[in-house]
Amino acid sequence: MPVPFVTACVLAVVAFSATGCATPAGAARQDPSALAAEQARATMLLSRVAGMIEGGTVHVTVNASPTVGAYAWPEGGLLLTSGLARLLDDDELSAAVAHELGHLVADGRMHAVAALNGTGATSSAADAESLADAAGSRLLSSAGYPPEAMPRMLEKVAAAPGTSAALRPRLLRRAAALRRSAVTR
Ligand SMILES: [Zn+2]
Repeated sequence: MPVPFVTACVLAVVAFSATGCATPAGAARQDPSALAAEQARATMLLSRVAGMIEGGTVHVTVNASPTVGAYAWPEGGLLLTSGLARLLDDDELSAAVAHELGHLVADGRMHAVAALNGTGATSSAADAESLADAAGSRLLSSAGYPPEAMPRMLEKVAAAPGTSAALRPRLLRRAAALRRSAVTR
């Protein structure tokens, strides 16, 4: 499945690495029933987190790819790779979903974000990711998930074998910032 990465925001697994945006690796050979189970799981988790959002419809697709990645489109489509789904437990996968939704919402409503790919004039890529982390953490809390799942998810993605050495410290910095803000809240 081609990914229009010009408008896609990425969890940051591939988006803001030295090589820039990348499409998920070609479809991996995967048991179709396992993929269907991941799809059902992601849809269920999304419905719980997205129930906190007004004014838009969102949907999630899981594609068969060993790459660890997540993407969001302004019209409300999310894409998670099966590599990401397998890596994360339910709380952490919900955090990944909430992070992606965090790019799409403002003030709890769906919102046309101008700088989804982090190239807008008013916000750097790093800012866009941190803002999505914060918005996603609020969504997680509202949905009854432990907000701590967000930094845990970032740390797991940082430790995943396919995550680039350039990206790893950025993910860990975001996780540390979330843990600090939780302590001082
Ligand atoms: Zn992101």
